[in-house]
Amino acid sequence: MMDNLKKTDPAVFDSIVSEARRQADGLELIASENFVSQAVLEAMGTVMTNKYAEGLPSKRYYGGCEFVDVAEDLARDRARQLFGAEHVNVQPHSGAQANMAAYFSFLDPGDKILGMNLSHGGHLTHGSPVNFSGRLFEVVAYGVREDDGRIDYDEVRERARAERPKMIIAGASAYPRTIDFAAFSEIAREVDACFVVDMAHIAGLVATGHHPTPIPHADIVTTTTHKTLRGPRGGMILCREQHAKAIDKAVFPFMQGGPLMHVIAAKAVALLEALKPDFSDYSGRIVANAKALADGLMERGFHLVSGGTDNHLLLVDLRPSHDELTGKEAEAALEASGITVNKNTVPGETRSPFVTSGLRIGTPALTSRGMNEAEMTQVATWIAHVLEAPNDQDRITAVRGEVRDLCANFPLYVELAG
Ligand SMILES: *Cc1c(COP(=O)(O)O)cnc(C)c1O
Repeated sequence: MMDNLKKTDPAVFDSIVSEARRQADGLELIASENFVSQAVLEAMGTVMTNKYAEGLPSKRYYGGCEFVDVAEDLARDRARQLFGAEHVNVQPHSGAQANMAAYFSFLDPGDKILGMNLSHGGHLTHGSPVNFSGRLFEVVAYGVREDDGRIDYDEVRERARAERPKMIIAGASAYPRTIDFAAFSEIAREVDACFVVDMAHIAGLVATGHHPTPIPHADIVTTTTHKTLRGPRGGMILCREQHAKAIDKAVFPFMQGGPLMHVIAAKAVALLEALKPDFSDYSGRIVANAKALADGLMERGFHLVSGGTDNHLLLVDLRPSHDELTGKEAEAALEASGITVNKNTVPGETRSPFVTSGLRIGTPALTSRGMNEAEMTQVATWIAHVLEAPNDQDRITAVRGEVRDLCANFPLYVELAG
């Protein structure tokens, strides 16, 4: 495989092979990551990348679009079917761009939005001052209760009533519990705000009923395609027919130029995979694995924000169990042991976002490799063992070896990683 690349550009080829080995050799627990199928990979590396296709299927600004139209129509039909949506736009290059288009289909610069606080689990695009959303809109935020780590819907309602935002956005990057979209929708209606749901993290769970769907409640739903949905890196917007034109125009020509047709073809493949019954089993195993990992960590003395998880991720608050250990140090010690997680702020955070007091841990990627609850319990044991003595190099080396042995039993991208 990739003989031409190897010959033309050995440096890039080597970096790709090394990355494939890294993915195969370690335990990927970053909650926003996953492993696409070989079929999705193949669709992405194709001649579809050559084609300009501004516009929509059968309404393009370029000739020669009849075959890319087939791929995009398949992606659109499958997404509509999978989520029960009236309209979908599969062109956003990423989740952030899906959000930008969604916002600008309703809002003008300077309008007020109500989104989840980044340090409580929200996303940069939900109003952070360093992001376009915080630069272009007036932002008010809601968060989680410090005592139980759950979204405070009373606070959301109070803020909405007091601030009268034009848009309310629900959805998170680091929230381990079920989100009550019906409650948000009721609040949005009460204050006459548009209601956007960003289901980037949980789209795969929503597709299979392992998280309640936002589709009947939201005006617009945005998502990534590469997290629990297990597709190529990209974004997507779902909405009712009444908002279809506004959304399509906000994606192109407002925000983007030509769509990435090779990625759209791969989105179609991933959506087909997600429609199959075994994807539902897969989603269920993601959630069961997260529970097993949560239980394993709590049995070993760790404190989880909200006391557990309903979905694919958990948030460890290191302060009660490991007072001196920062998220940054914990992440580094685990990385050296072959266990990849990310540091994360926790509710009531006292350290900087570059240091933090927490870890975010997710199970979609390991579940894609075929790992189950027994492996999750083993992972919890390793995490506890390493974080008990994060500077013990012998211990880290020993765990690194055991991790490698486990990974060898769950092969990944064999053709590439060897
Ligand atoms: C990941 C994520 C995004 C952004 O996706 P990108 O593809 O990285 O731009 C947006 N919103 C939420 C809630 C996310 O978790």
